[in-house]
Amino acid sequence: MTATVIDGKEFAARVRAQVATHVARLKADHGLTPGLAVVLVGEDPASQVYVGAKGRQTVEVGMNSYEHKLPADTSEATLLATIDRLNRDPAVNGILVQLPLPGHLDSDLVINSIDPAKDVDGFHISNVGLLGTGQKSMVPCTPLGCLMMLRDHLGPLAGLHAVVVGRSNIVGKPMAQLLLGDSCTVTIAHSKTRDLPALCRTADILVAAVGRPEMVTGDFVKPGATVIDVGINRITGADGKTRLVGDAQYDSCARVAGAITPVPGGVGPMTIACLLANTLTATCRAHGLPEPKGLTA
Ligand code: NDP
Repeated sequence: MTATVIDGKEFAARVRAQVATHVARLKADHGLTPGLAVVLVGEDPASQVYVGAKGRQTVEVGMNSYEHKLPADTSEATLLATIDRLNRDPAVNGILVQLPLPGHLDSDLVINSIDPAKDVDGFHISNVGLLGTGQKSMVPCTPLGCLMMLRDHLGPLAGLHAVVVGRSNIVGKPMAQLLLGDSCTVTIAHSKTRDLPALCRTADILVAAVGRPEMVTGDFVKPGATVIDVGINRITGADGKTRLVGDAQYDSCARVAGAITPVPGGVGPMTIACLLANTLTATCRAHGLPEPKGLTA
């Protein structure tokens, strides 16, 4: 069997086009332009690249982008005051604090200072609780993107067995909650799980979010299963060149799976697209307008 490739780049472009259409309608009908504020503390090169891409794509869909770049030695009080200003600014509908923060800053405290209604990353403890109890919340972007691709590829997910490998707060746990919300039977695996390959072979949907390059191999995959590879790992090949690989070993998994997301070009592009979708959703909720269909959990 050769798996169908789930093209996240193409799907993300479709999501962005949908967002842009809604944004144009909000402007025309209500005079509203959604605004996304991104706060970056320090000069981590990878974070600078992400923030740049987020800002560009925000503007491309017709939203306002506000970037707040603060020096690495910014005090907690200054950062909290910046977030407080953004919380109170009616032009700002979404706030994202780029992680990781420098070590002297308490990430939990900072994230929980964001107005939950503007928490477009879905990391605020209120949103975590709302998602966990099946209530309307802001949903973390990466798992939301995975869910959208699964729905698009498989249709209704009810009754399917999903195994999520990884239990982090930003990917594994919210991914499992979302799949449960769509009535999958969900198993969460982690580093202490016994006989992981055998467990994974029971999955109709296998989500790899472990942060270990190519750990999930073809012998983890049930024939015909859908593999969602969340991993982004930069490795150096035998030729000395670096390249990106996922947490799943693409070739061996693709020989067994029914469908698979590649790395790069799978889950990655969906994350920013879902950030834009969340900003649009937050804007609609803030103004009591109907939420965009197909862009939320
Ligand atoms: P974390 O390091 O926070 O979590 C990794 C999880 O994998 C942990 O729960 C850990 O278990 C589990 N794990 C580690 N080793 C094993 C093992 N040998 N067997 C089974 N489980 C194991 O990572 P994240 O969730 O933040 O990220 C996961 C991956 O997703 C990374 O590759 C990251 O780069 C990528 N990522 C991609 C994004 C995107 O936009 N596409 C966004 C965010 C992340 P335990 O809890 O027991 O330690």
